[in-house]
Amino acid sequence: MQTILALDQGTTSSRAILFDRAGQVVSVAQQEFRQIFPKPGWVEHDANDIWRSQYAVARKALKQAGLQAADVDAIGITNQRETTLLWDRKTGEPLANAIVWQDRRTAGRCDALRELGHAATIQNKTGLVLDAYFSGTKLQWLLDHVPGARARARKGELAFGTVDSWLIWKLTGGQRHVTDASNASRTLLFNIHSLQWDEQLLELFDIPPSVLPLVVPSCGELGHADAALFGSPLRIAGVAGDQQAATFGQACYVPGMAKNTYGTGCFMLMNTGQAAVTSRHKLLSTIAWVGPGVSIQPAMACYALEGSVFVAGAAIQWLRDGLGIIKSAEDVQALAEQVDDTQDVYLVPAFAGLGAPDWDAYARGVLVGITRGTTSAHIARAALEAIALQTAGIFAAMANDSGIALSELRVDGGASRNDLLMQLQADFLGVPVLRPRITETSALGAAYLAGLATGFWTDVDEVASQWAMDRRFEPVLGANARTEKLARWGQAVQRAKGWVNH
Ligand code: ADP
Repeated sequence: MQTILALDQGTTSSRAILFDRAGQVVSVAQQEFRQIFPKPGWVEHDANDIWRSQYAVARKALKQAGLQAADVDAIGITNQRETTLLWDRKTGEPLANAIVWQDRRTAGRCDALRELGHAATIQNKTGLVLDAYFSGTKLQWLLDHVPGARARARKGELAFGTVDSWLIWKLTGGQRHVTDASNASRTLLFNIHSLQWDEQLLELFDIPPSVLPLVVPSCGELGHADAALFGSPLRIAGVAGDQQAATFGQACYVPGMAKNTYGTGCFMLMNTGQAAVTSRHKLLSTIAWVGPGVSIQPAMACYALEGSVFVAGAAIQWLRDGLGIIKSAEDVQALAEQVDDTQDVYLVPAFAGLGAPDWDAYARGVLVGITRGTTSAHIARAALEAIALQTAGIFAAMANDSGIALSELRVDGGASRNDLLMQLQADFLGVPVLRPRITETSALGAAYLAGLATGFWTDVDEVASQWAMDRRFEPVLGANARTEKLARWGQAVQRAKGWVNH
């Protein structure tokens, strides 16, 4: 038994990574799959594409490494969160395409529930902001719009799941209909305090309980992949949503430790330990993971505060594709380094509204402070600063909500490779930024959850000791300059708010 097989089912591609006992990557395989946009604001995936691509890369990763099922100790799963699937329990066939987390079709339903005064109850029970991103209204939509679905659901013929549930159903040949607590905590249906599906919320969203999966720990053996798939049965022992798994992979095991992932958007999660902190700044309170164990125990739950920024690396893509001032994302650093500062130019990339902590769907991007002296270099630098400044806003909200002063930030994701961005980040936070050698943190976290459940790794101390630094960025900007910068950014953000009509 030499490896753990991590299945990383993302929004645009499925990946499989084999990790050895030292937490090193042995083999990686990746396959993109089809994105379906039936109408503006709608995003769907074919559930069978998700499964087929995930299974194909799992086999490919093994083949590339010359390994067999016997060389794999266990499977760990991490996945795009909130995406909603509904399938037939008898045939295993999906009733419709999966509704992807980005899909906005249920925004009106959320507005209506907000007007009826349900937002506070929902936040208290689920830790979430009432928004179309989460699964609850998506599942309700499927039950209301797929012909016959609600009647069949009432008869117990249908199964609902997020992507983790679907993969486990397929891996176990329909033997297990389960979800882990971190994924359940993104559905708007799960009470994160009692760790149970919430009857009142099920009524509110009109969801028959018979469609729900059993909630299991994130770290614990929950079933076996069918022998027909890999040649012999493989146990599945770890599951978590992608951002929670990344937090685990970054070894943020102590309350107050946080990680930020710089991809298309940014997701910062801070471990808040056994306390589900209620945010006063519109951050999400969510389950980080539960376990180890084979059944759900509230005492084994670890919570996190989460802040999401919609546009981060995507602002760099805009410099490349929209403005054409760089050829590739990496070029942004050299361009921005042509100048020492932005000369008071700010870019607020509210291209799709603003996420946490503002949650203003009606904000749009602004570029302010332009003079005759402004060049593409200033704009490039302003774009990088914007990523770091948005993150600084979330970081401050987290400290406020939790009462924990963060002493450092662990980073990962594609844009974390940018050294200038990481230095700006340390400067705007006033704490060191730590970049690890392995930035495949979601897959690594899923592998750790599985390997800790089976004894492949002994304890979190062992896996935490595998975290190796690539580079540490120390803040050099003075406190006064930092305060001034954040205040100026706040003024720029005000100019972006409420730009389009409701
Ligand atoms: P995702 O998982 O969301 O697709 P990735 O983690 O793969 O994102 O990161 C890709 C994003 O990071 C893109 O938006 C890209 O513009 C940005 N990016 C990649 N390299 C750099 C870089 N050197 N500097 C700044 N941004 C970068």
